[in-house]
Amino acid sequence: MGKLLLLQETLNQVNDSYFHYEKLPIIKLSKGQDKSKRRAIVFGTYHAKKDEIKIHPVLLQDHLPSFVLEFVIYHEMLHYQDRDELLIRKKGDKVHTKEFRQREKQFLHYEEAQKILKKILYGKDMHEESTPNILDEKTNKKIVRKILKGEALENALAESLQRLDHILIKYNLKEEKIKGAKRGTKKKDDESQLASDE
Ligand SMILES: [Zn+2]
Repeated sequence: MGKLLLLQETLNQVNDSYFHYEKLPIIKLSKGQDKSKRRAIVFGTYHAKKDEIKIHPVLLQDHLPSFVLEFVIYHEMLHYQDRDELLIRKKGDKVHTKEFRQREKQFLHYEEAQKILKKILYGKDMHEESTPNILDEKTNKKIVRKILKGEALENALAESLQRLDHILIKYNLKEEKIKGAKRGTKKKDDESQLASDE
């Protein structure tokens, strides 16, 4: 199924199950950008003036249970439900009120959906065999860079430990030479003593 068709059908289905509106907002895919500063993925948005829902493509991955996408669309549909208020909303007015959160919990798989969204957000794998990482490429690269940095640090540490080892070995050898040299002189002394004793 095409992605847009999937979005449209999921929206219809969520509407049939929970809302029963005759007219629905437009639904589109977002560009999938992350607000990297806040380390957050914007899973969905509802733009009241445009009457438009946008969904992050990360939610269309095959291995995700369908209720994850359904939940995000459900959440955006709750904003659609509040559209009249949103259109006259003043800056700073709360969008996710306590009452909104109550309605949000009416979603059938609320807890499970929340859990999976958090996992996506924090990059924990749910299906390690099939998808090594469910985050987008940019975030993946960041993580890989971090790992490589860590590895480089470990390598450097191992190297410096080895170097330390070398130094210690050299030092020991030196010590031994000194001792050996001392022993040597003592031996000579002993020998000479012995010689004189004879
Ligand atoms: Zn919201």
